[in-house]
Order: sequence, then structure tokens, then C-alpha cells
Amino acid sequence: METDNQIFHEPRAYDSIDLWKDVTPEQWNDAAWQMKHSIRSVEQLKKVIKLSAFQASEIERTLAALRSQGKEPLRITPYYATLMDSDPFHPIMPMGEKPKKRLDPIFWQSVPTPANLLFPDTGVEGAMAEGSRSYGAAYQRYPNRLALFVAENTSCASYCVHCQRAKSLDGSVDVSRTEVDKGLFYIGSNRNINEVLVTGGDALMISRSRLQYILEELSRIPHLRAIRIATRVPVVLPMAITDELLDLIEISANRYNNGAEKYVYFMTHINHYHEITKDLAVAVKKIRKHGFTIRNQTVLLNHVNDYYKTLAETFRRMFWIGIHPYYLLQCHKERGIVHFITPVQVGKIYMKHLQGWISGVTMPRYAANVEGGGGKVLLMPSGHDTFNVGSNNEDQISESYATVTTWDGKELFNYEALGRATREEFEAAVKVMDEFIGRKGVFLPKVILVDQDGKHIETTNRLKLPIIEKLKKSALLGYDLFDNEMPITNPAEITNRLDEQFRNSKYSKQQ
Ligand code: SF4
Repeated sequence: METDNQIFHEPRAYDSIDLWKDVTPEQWNDAAWQMKHSIRSVEQLKKVIKLSAFQASEIERTLAALRSQGKEPLRITPYYATLMDSDPFHPIMPMGEKPKKRLDPIFWQSVPTPANLLFPDTGVEGAMAEGSRSYGAAYQRYPNRLALFVAENTSCASYCVHCQRAKSLDGSVDVSRTEVDKGLFYIGSNRNINEVLVTGGDALMISRSRLQYILEELSRIPHLRAIRIATRVPVVLPMAITDELLDLIEISANRYNNGAEKYVYFMTHINHYHEITKDLAVAVKKIRKHGFTIRNQTVLLNHVNDYYKTLAETFRRMFWIGIHPYYLLQCHKERGIVHFITPVQVGKIYMKHLQGWISGVTMPRYAANVEGGGGKVLLMPSGHDTFNVGSNNEDQISESYATVTTWDGKELFNYEALGRATREEFEAAVKVMDEFIGRKGVFLPKVILVDQDGKHIETTNRLKLPIIEKLKKSALLGYDLFDNEMPITNPAEITNRLDEQFRNSKYSKQQ
């Protein structure tokens, strides 16, 4: 049972699970063993979590449909699977979150459900592709930095159901050596590029020799200053973070460097504090011991972390183990993952209410990658809002669209973060998922309802904006309240009492 003072989520003991009851600790802690024994089928999944015959057949149906689209939809490392409740349909949730309205957050992230087949006409598959910005494996959106795609998405240790990349889980995508070489060549020939994000898929799931080659080639480029490595390995396969791997990164990134040292940063992806375990903390410590810092991108996911306390706990706990929360990203509008989108105004409300209640360094920036390029668009609520003077954030409910201005001045009119559906489609979708889950009130997709002519009717979020008053925030975040209902003690006002206690404390006795 999770308690409020806990930092680490307790995974299930693997030897209590039938499928792995004979596994030795050596095998369990071996990354190769984990990969070889990853869950790829419903048959295996049924041995790890409780599924009714109907739920199992619905997941099977979903997997078959996704496979027929050329996708590889299921891979879960045994380690990551132990973070799931044994009954993910009735998870134990922390204070404030109603378990009957939730499914296990790791389940939502790793097991495709019939929800992935809903709303097929909304969301733009390939919206992130922007092929015209690429040369080989290099993809440039900003003047001084680019992403180097070094791995296929099918290389990821565990597959995320909500993956934002259009080519994710698409078995046909391959990153050849020639593509990588073209990307390296481009970085070397563009002197504006001083930062590179080495990514995929997962940058740490490529072969050691390819990783070494790429980092050594980057080390030769004089104008390059920083190398960022994008990986979810610490979260889904922490045993793969070894000193040997980190030595290789440390040495290779500066092997042929003549100038200033190139700094290496790790960029990871944690969405829920159930992913923050002792094993993750050990991996993080190893990474930090080699002198690398770690930053995290969280995706704001309806049904997973769209809750004030969940976000606060996730950001705080990752900071407490040495990871800096860096972005809270709006979920992308891709086909099959529309049910994961939380409306922008809800995200803004959470960000506004977290201000001051968790420290500034634990607050990520809230941003969206809007379709059509232009990079990240910040969605931060401001304490100095000169627009809509007199109304607060909760009142500024954009029904469904906004004008968006990108960093390079591009204006996107009527940008919609949510998917669209007719009322019939929406109601049918909820029915499908209510049947799958076995109760109502869990599956609540946020979509723009339109009529048969495509005209806006309403947003299904309309009446469900969260109201988080002071008292509730305090209780959710585990603060004690004082006289004026604020969890702040003003020491100057209780000096006499403190003096007396101080006189009896170990500090006075030491003098
Ligand atoms: S690890 Fe990243 S790239 Fe791979 S499936 Fe998950 S979100 Fe997508």
C-alpha cells in the first residue's frame, strides 16, 4: 500500500508472479534476460495481471488490428510489468484519487486497449514527420540544434501506447548507417549546430558499437558543445544502465575532441510516480556519478497523470532522486491516442496551482509540439496576464481552438489540441470502453463534438475543469495547515516557543 511519505513505488515481487517464480536474481537483473523475456503476447500478459476472458480477447483484437496496420504494438519488460497492479482494473490509488475512476497508470501506458482503435478519423498520423526538415537521420527545427535519429522506434525496450512520434511502433522504419552518416556529415558542415539530441526510438537501445561510433564522430565536430541522449531505459530497463555503458559514453563523447569539453545530458521520460522505484534511483545515481545530469519530459496524459497530486508527486519524487523535471508536454494529436489528450486549459490550471506549492526547480515548463512544425510552443499560465484582464485562467476556457504563435513567428490559426468526433461516435466509444473496463466513469476522452457538417457543438471537457482550492491543495500535497489556513510557519511569530525548544535541543547541549 502506497503511503504519502513514500518516495519509491514498490514493484510486485517478481517471484510472486507465476511466470517468473523460478527466475534467479542474477537473471532478473540481467538486461539481456529482461529483453529476451519481454511480454509480447496476451498469453504472457494473462500470467502477470488479472484479465477477464473478455478483456483478454479485446486486447487480442486490438493487437491484431494494430499489427494489420504494420505496427508492433506490445513489448513490456518484465521489470516494467512488475510496476503494474496485479489487478490493473482495480488499482490502489493514493489519497484524493478515486480508484473506481482509474485504471493502473502503467497498464494504460503499456497495454494497447480498444481505445487505440477509437476515433479513427481524428488525429493526424504523421503529423510530427516533417520530412522536409531532415537530412539523413538529422532533423532540424531550431537554428542551433537538431535531433539525430539513431534508432528505430521498434528498438525501444518497452513500447509506450501513447508514443508521440508518428513513426513509433512502425515496424517498417529503419535507420541505416548511411542515414546516420548523412546526419553526422550535416552536423559537421553546419557550424550553427552546437547541441545534438541523440534519439530514436531509444538512443541506448542501439548496439554498443553504433553508439560508440556516433559519439566518437560527434566528438570530432569542433562547433558542437552539448550532446543530449534521449532514453527511457532507466525507467523501463534500469538494469541496462551499467558502468561499462556509461564509461563508453563518457570516453567516446570526447575521444577526438580538441577544444572545450562536450557535455553529455540524459533526457528521460517519466509520466507517473509509480515509475519512480529504487531500481530507477540506482540507475540515476550511476549516471550522475559519471558526471551527467538527467532531465525529464513528462507527457500530460488523460487517464494516467491528469491529476494535480499525481503531477506534483511525479515532479517532486523525480527531483528527490536527482532528475530535473524539464517539460510537461501536451499529448500529440495522433490517430489511436486521442483519448490520452488532456485539454490545454486543464494543464494550465494544474501548472498555475502548482506554482509556489512545489519548488521552482521541480516545475517543468508546459509546452506543445504543434502540428506542422515550428517546434515547442509554451503553454505556461502567467501571473502577469495582460490579456483577458479581470478573468482568471479557469474562465478563459477556449472551447476548442486557439491561435498559436511559434518561436519563429509562425501563426497557426484555430489550432485545436483535441480530436473531433460526432456525438454518436463519442457515445459509442465510451460504451466500448465501459464494457472493456467493466464499469462506467473511468474512460472519459476529451474531444470536440461536431455535427454531421463538422460544425462545433461542444467540448466533452466543458463541465469538468478541476477546481483546486487552497485547502485541497494542502491536503493533497501533504502539508499541515496553520492558523490562517496556509501551510507556512512564520518563525518570527513563534520565537519564544522556538527559543525554549532550542534550549532543550541537542544544539544547546553541544555548546
Ligand atoms: S520509449 Fe519513447 S520512442 Fe520508444 S515507444 Fe516510448 S515514447 Fe515512443
